[in-house]
Amino acid sequence: MKLTCIYCKTEQFDQGKGSEEHVVLSSLGGRKSSRSICCQKCNIELGKEIDKPLAEGLRIISTFYGIITGRGKEAATLKSYGTHNGRNFDLLPGGRVELSRVKIDRQIDEEKGVVNISVRARNVDEVNKLLKQQLKSLGKGIEDIQIGEITESVEYPKSISVSIDLGLVSQHRSIAKTALTYIATMISPERLRSGCFSNIIEYIIGSEEASNSISMTQINFPPLPNISDAQHRVIISASEDKKMAIGLVELFGGLKFMVALTDCWEGPNLQKGYAVNPLNGDQVEYEDTVNLNDEHWSEKASGFDGGIYLEMVRKVFGAAFNHHVKLEHERIISEVTEEFFKEFGGEDFTDELKMKLSSRIAKAIANSVYKINEYRIIPPDHFKII
Ligand SMILES: [Zn+2]
Repeated sequence: MKLTCIYCKTEQFDQGKGSEEHVVLSSLGGRKSSRSICCQKCNIELGKEIDKPLAEGLRIISTFYGIITGRGKEAATLKSYGTHNGRNFDLLPGGRVELSRVKIDRQIDEEKGVVNISVRARNVDEVNKLLKQQLKSLGKGIEDIQIGEITESVEYPKSISVSIDLGLVSQHRSIAKTALTYIATMISPERLRSGCFSNIIEYIIGSEEASNSISMTQINFPPLPNISDAQHRVIISASEDKKMAIGLVELFGGLKFMVALTDCWEGPNLQKGYAVNPLNGDQVEYEDTVNLNDEHWSEKASGFDGGIYLEMVRKVFGAAFNHHVKLEHERIISEVTEEFFKEFGGEDFTDELKMKLSSRIAKAIANSVYKINEYRIIPPDHFKII
């Protein structure tokens, strides 16, 4: 059976052979998709016009959480996200910060007949690599080098500011598409194209006449499905009696929207919820357990409220930041432990050594919690060029 693309209404494709349209955006970690909705051209165009602004508006949260996209990729590294002491920093997946650029200075000391090279990089391996490149370009080898001073430093910016933008109409259209795509996975292609969804389709493609079909909402979302603090959820409720279908969309466990899908629903009662954990791709669907009470049916899409918006963003960013702190502590513990065993690996793990390891971990965690900058001079003989 040939299906017509619901967006351009011209392109045709075999059922199940259209473009892969994700329910929750793949770039936000969504997995579930349908190939019976639209053509490739519309998928690409809407991707650029509405999905990209949504993914970008939320990318700081994606990066702090270190999500894995639907296509198995890591969240983007945010280049030159902040500045500290005149140096730019990148924000890495999971929320780590790291120098955006390496810095190499080369000065010739003619009196002594030597070249002074100073390298600032993100880690020891990178220092090694850059030094070797420098030596090569000077036609020298490791044996010609004399190491001066080596400092390892960890610096914390006093504050970071984040920007999470969800106020664009293009972003709201993408969220509306999430709800429509989910209901499309559970109804027949004919019902999707019967005309009862024409308002929401017009809204998604950006038709000027289309009325506002989406609102931020504080209504209590059903408790299930619930698989992660970072989860994305889409819940559909359609009522045969009221001839209505609505979609509830929740992003990152707290940005909540209601989408009015249709008010001329001719189908049966439907209640179904989908959740995906963007941290690992786990997903689940619940039937019947999604129970929207009566007053939700009468809630009209009412646009956006600045107060609600701020409250939601605070909650969601707070959760993402806490997740980052947890990851950071795990990383610190494994890094300190690894270094410790490099130093004392051959020795008996005596009580004294255990105490030493514990106090090193405690100090490193405390420095991270209280943002205490650390500078460690490494003796030149501890540094090996490899
Ligand atoms: Zn199309």
